[in-house]
Amino acid sequence: MAINNAYLNSVYEDLAARYPEQAEFLEAVHEVLETLSPVVDADPRYEQQNIIGRMVEPERTILFRVPWVDDQGKVQVNRGYRVQFNSAIGPYKGGLRFRNNVNLSIIKFLGFEQIFKNALTTLPMGGGKGGSDFDPKGKSDGEIMRFCQSFMTELRKHIGPDTDVPAGDIGVGGREIGYMYGQYKRLTNTHVGVLTGKGLTFGGSLARTEATGFGLCYFADAYMKANGKSFEGKSVVVSGSGNVATYANQKATQLGGKVIAMSDSNGYIVDENGIDFKVIKEIKEVKRARIKTYLDYVPTAKYVEGCAGIWNVKADIYLPCATQNEIDEASAKTIVANGAIGVFEGSNMPCTPEAIEVIKSAGLLYSPGKASNAGGVATSGLEMSQNSERLSWSFDEVDAKLKGIMETIYADCAAAAERFGKPGDIQAGANIAGFLKVAEAMLAQGVAY
Ligand code: NDP
Repeated sequence: MAINNAYLNSVYEDLAARYPEQAEFLEAVHEVLETLSPVVDADPRYEQQNIIGRMVEPERTILFRVPWVDDQGKVQVNRGYRVQFNSAIGPYKGGLRFRNNVNLSIIKFLGFEQIFKNALTTLPMGGGKGGSDFDPKGKSDGEIMRFCQSFMTELRKHIGPDTDVPAGDIGVGGREIGYMYGQYKRLTNTHVGVLTGKGLTFGGSLARTEATGFGLCYFADAYMKANGKSFEGKSVVVSGSGNVATYANQKATQLGGKVIAMSDSNGYIVDENGIDFKVIKEIKEVKRARIKTYLDYVPTAKYVEGCAGIWNVKADIYLPCATQNEIDEASAKTIVANGAIGVFEGSNMPCTPEAIEVIKSAGLLYSPGKASNAGGVATSGLEMSQNSERLSWSFDEVDAKLKGIMETIYADCAAAAERFGKPGDIQAGANIAGFLKVAEAMLAQGVAY
């Protein structure tokens, strides 16, 4: 759909013509640009200095070969990516995703989103993202270690504690970060904060593991309270059962909600008595098994094959925490028909543009991932601070800072939406608030010839 501003539309059309195969990236750019018309209209410098045209092109894109040896002694090859998108406000920062569908389009969409998300955290971090089409699922520990070491052997040439600081994402948790950090240290003979999400014995931050899921609920709580609502006594559906989903379950429950459904890419479980996050942790983090195994612990629960059906489960609050484009128009209509209060995104870009339209026009509360899942990267920023200071803060200290940051992000999004004539539109507010900070820094730093 054409964007309602000639300059923004021409930047988008150029991009779409140049990268027609990058569907996810174009979707993410379109979503941001279509909310920026009032900002670009209000300040001619953005067009004069072609700020948007510069923002949609990464500063650097690194593609590399990742050879590794499997348990049968066979040499395998995967593709590695790091997109260093924008360093106007700080070192590049953003996770690494290991999953078989990873390609340049997905990494660019995630890197582009990360620019605005990181700006919203109030911390000095630029935007970047990386990963590989290697899938840790079904691989042995030894295979994962050898892959991570090979990946880092190349990646370390491009990163550093003041240059680019990767973290985890889908398929990259504490185990993978540990193997990559070990290899970085071996190769460089330095012990520095070059990755976040590290183990607690070697520079990790307390509460980083919980941060994205907890932060999502702090954000949703602030947003609901501003609208006279809360988690108290509400039923909650959480998609996924990985890092974000598990701790979203824990915090939503602590805030008085009841999580009745969760999923993985095979199917979903429903437990009307409330899903205990500790059981999910045991299944996913210790046993690395499928969500179906939940029935071994709670035989009264129900398992349904196919993950897309989870949106049919009637609830008050929906927290998508699995992957991109997991809620399409039809699922959004079901959520509205279920009488929900709101959809708060834990994963990146889980709602398609059509789904967002359905959710917003039905009057539900809606928060985009770049605002409501920013707690993960914010706490990574806190991990970087602790590494630089050679200190470690207590769980409560980090958690309190995280809560404060999420409340500030909500307030900043709401204020930006109000200021640019879109009161209550948190999607527009998030894009505008993030954009303004990065754009001001880019203007101040001039154009490099
Ligand atoms: P994990 O790998 O820990 O968990 C991902 C979960 O989503 C798994 O349960 C996985 O199921 C499920 N899943 C993945 N792909 C699909 C799919 N195509 N359909 C259905 N389910 C799927 O990842 P995270 O929890 O770290 O990340 C989840 C989302 O949150 C991603 O969008 C990520 O970008 C975003 N995010 C993560 C942050 C973090 O700190 N970790 C920070 C901000 C955003 P299965 O086990 O079957 O693969």
